[in-house]
Amino acid sequence: PLPTVAIIGRPNVGKSTLFNRLVGKRLALVDDQPGVTRDRREGEASLIGLEFKIIDTAGFEDEDAATLPGRMRVQTEAAVRDADVALFMIDARAGIVPLDEEIARWLRVTQVPIVLVANKAEGRGGESGFYQAMALGLGDPIGLSAEHGEGMADLFDALRPLI
Ligand code: GDP
Ligand code: MG
Repeated sequence: PLPTVAIIGRPNVGKSTLFNRLVGKRLALVDDQPGVTRDRREGEASLIGLEFKIIDTAGFEDEDAATLPGRMRVQTEAAVRDADVALFMIDARAGIVPLDEEIARWLRVTQVPIVLVANKAEGRGGESGFYQAMALGLGDPIGLSAEHGEGMADLFDALRPLI
């Protein structure tokens, strides 16, 4: 069976953009069917020939700020439970916000290896967020642009020894 990588992070950091890039045309057909839950998507990812199952944790875009962390925690922990690696994504342009720090705390107490990814790192707009991410205590982040396909070789280098 393929190893499993779960993409974790607060809404709008670019999780689904990375999922779509890695899964591409192999996206499960069920995803296009109406009424299918958007809470969690699974697909078969291929990254420079490295193949793995990928889980996109989703949503909560309409959630109000008071209930978002609790719902995210349940969903995050469920995704991480089945994963060999947690790919924790932050938004380098927005910088680190309290919810990122909270997710980092949840992840630190799990046994699963964590790969920290600073997305939206294309150009120079992501520099300060990239450095803020270093302070999460999860090691140096991998600078990525899921939208533009930058940083994929670095992501490969980080994932390969773990899966
Ligand atoms: P999710 O909520 O974490 O799944 O985030 P999405 O994948 O839906 O992306 C949220 C927004 O960020 C969308 O408008 C994307 O186009 C944008 N986005 C995703 N990746 C990048 C990136 O690498 N750079 C920039 N500038 N924007 C991105
Ligand atoms: Mg999404």
